[in-house]
Amino acid sequence: MTQPIAPAPSTPLSGPQKGLHKLGLLRPIDLALHLPLRYEDETRIVKLRDVRDGELAQIEGVVTSCEVRVRGQRQLLVTIDDGSETCLLRFFSFYPSQQKALAVGQRIRARGEIKGGFGGLQMMHPSFKAASGPLPSALTPVYPTVAALPQAYLRRAVLGGLERADLAETIAADSLPAGQAALSWNLRQALTFLHLPTPDMALATLQDPNHPAWQRLKFEELLAQQLSQLQAKRERARLRSPQLPVRRHAPDTALPLHEQLLAALPFRLTAAQRRVSEEIMRDLARSVPMHRLLQGDVGSGKTVVAALAAAICMDAGHQCALMAPTEILAEQHFRKLIAWLEPLGVKTAWLTGGQKAKERRETLALIASGEAMLVVGTHAVIQDKVVFKNLALAIIDEQHRFGVAQRLALRGKLTDVEMEPHLLMMTATPIPRTLAMSYYADLDVSTIDELPPGRTPIVTKVVGEARRDEVIARISAQLAQGRQVYWVCPLIEESEALDLRNATETHAQLSEALQGAGAAALQIGLLHSRMPVAEKKAVMALFTSGAMGVLVSTTVIEVGVDVPNATLMVIEHAERFGLSQLHQLRGRVGRGASASACVLLYSTGEAPRLGETARERLKAMVETSDGFEIARRDLEIRGPGEFLGARQSGAALLRFADLVADGVLLEQARRLAPPMLDQHPELAAQHIARWLGGKAQYLKA
Ligand code: ADP
Ligand code: MG
Repeated sequence: MTQPIAPAPSTPLSGPQKGLHKLGLLRPIDLALHLPLRYEDETRIVKLRDVRDGELAQIEGVVTSCEVRVRGQRQLLVTIDDGSETCLLRFFSFYPSQQKALAVGQRIRARGEIKGGFGGLQMMHPSFKAASGPLPSALTPVYPTVAALPQAYLRRAVLGGLERADLAETIAADSLPAGQAALSWNLRQALTFLHLPTPDMALATLQDPNHPAWQRLKFEELLAQQLSQLQAKRERARLRSPQLPVRRHAPDTALPLHEQLLAALPFRLTAAQRRVSEEIMRDLARSVPMHRLLQGDVGSGKTVVAALAAAICMDAGHQCALMAPTEILAEQHFRKLIAWLEPLGVKTAWLTGGQKAKERRETLALIASGEAMLVVGTHAVIQDKVVFKNLALAIIDEQHRFGVAQRLALRGKLTDVEMEPHLLMMTATPIPRTLAMSYYADLDVSTIDELPPGRTPIVTKVVGEARRDEVIARISAQLAQGRQVYWVCPLIEESEALDLRNATETHAQLSEALQGAGAAALQIGLLHSRMPVAEKKAVMALFTSGAMGVLVSTTVIEVGVDVPNATLMVIEHAERFGLSQLHQLRGRVGRGASASACVLLYSTGEAPRLGETARERLKAMVETSDGFEIARRDLEIRGPGEFLGARQSGAALLRFADLVADGVLLEQARRLAPPMLDQHPELAAQHIARWLGGKAQYLKA
């Protein structure tokens, strides 16, 4: 009989140690870089006689009464007398130990906001301690922490870390940008300044973002990010990929696939589509893996560019994979690519998570034998079991919707093969320049900056919930003209707290309202994220075929769906959507030649009016339909942390620098990174390790 192996004995972590782990404070340098959130002034005692109403003050006195009042809300009432005046301290929650520390006769120091008034001076829930020993001579740092980790413990740990951390220079003095007085401070000086303020140090100085201490920290952080991305780029440049030169038509041979595709398209490529295609072709012809982001507004025609790249890859005799974040999206691509490429003799395989075992086995065999030249699917494409014969190009649509972990898995998968495939990522949410320079510094970017001709601009209107009936009337008018309509709802389930009308209810309401309007022959469909995939597909097929007039849906249609006959988009509770999301949704209409409209239906609920940022978002939607301008405003409204949070699965990686405010430092870090990596490679490595530790891989994802 085999005994289960006993787990290795391990000392359980104490509460505070768990707290340190939770905050990622593992190495001395992590602790040293854990900076105060704010500072408290405990250096002075104010006499009660001199305090002002609302002042944040520290007082010192003797407790003259201490009692628990049980009538009404239970509370601890403590009076202290500092010889000039008395003050009442009020606690609504308290431990017996605190009550003991506040016993009559104790001399204490209390810090809090003073409230003056009828009943005399008061403090609610002040922090307090026994008045023993001299006053601290400098401001007291307060660190960001978690519940299990008391300030005092954390402070000792941080200061200990500061002493132990290796703070030897990682940036060679001769490589620092010249004439930057702010960077004259080194890291040790900067950290000591912020952790251990001197007695004369004013709060404003400690918090001044232009102070040399902060400039140094921000610069170092930005530099670490630049170095790590540059390193990733150089590592990639050492890898090898199959060369995929564009095959030109030779006499007596069949027309190459990409030429056949161009000839078969019902339209001519725009100049922008031609330009980005050439950029991609140049990359594909090289033996270094392509790592390119193709950005273009919704409807700018990225799919055909992807199809061309795929055709060039297949012309060279290699397989190509195309991935989308959802099955619906993947299916859209599949349809379009089939329609374009199958008539030209390309064998395509379809791979998702929900396939039957037998079907899946057959598909995997087709991919392994190389018979299927084009593989389309969800992230199922990168699962372990999938073996390609000769994959040379992977195309990922809406790459930011894949989680960081999935992108890392993809990297891992792709490097399995001897040769690295070329990578083309596509996004409809353009990246503002500062972000492209930092977070995406190791990507090459191609931009489609023009829409196909003949599009009529979408008219966007903001309409209050009270005018819902008018909106419904507008829908019947569109239906009467043979047009189709999207109606998007934010949530599937009614949440009492948010009072969101759910898609099901809206669907029922529209079905009833439109019945009388002579639209009975047309179906009104419902699509939401909880539906089984097969049902979703059936609904999408009906809408795509035109048999369904109105599609009520949650945001599953957010990206990629292409039905040119749809001319009206209604977004319910538009105030709850993010700006980029609204823009994506709006991009579902205006895809054909006829005029399209987008109605942003908002509801203020109980509130008298819309919140500030919600109003800004809706205003931006009305004022512009340019995706780049939208992205710029979105960044402005939300700030880079949140903007990135949404796209980077929560991995906001800059702690100190602000990409918008610290543009100058970012430029300097960008210029310094290449020579530093060349001339001081060991310093560069040390610098990356110090700042990024285990996070470096996420920057490369
Ligand atoms: P997106 O960039 O949002 O993925 P699509 O590739 O879905 O855009 O293209 C949007 C629509 O425009 C599709 O119906 C596509 O066939 C059409 N289209 C693409 N390029 C052109 C072009 N050069 N001229 C006319 N229509 C085009
Ligand atoms: Mg698309």
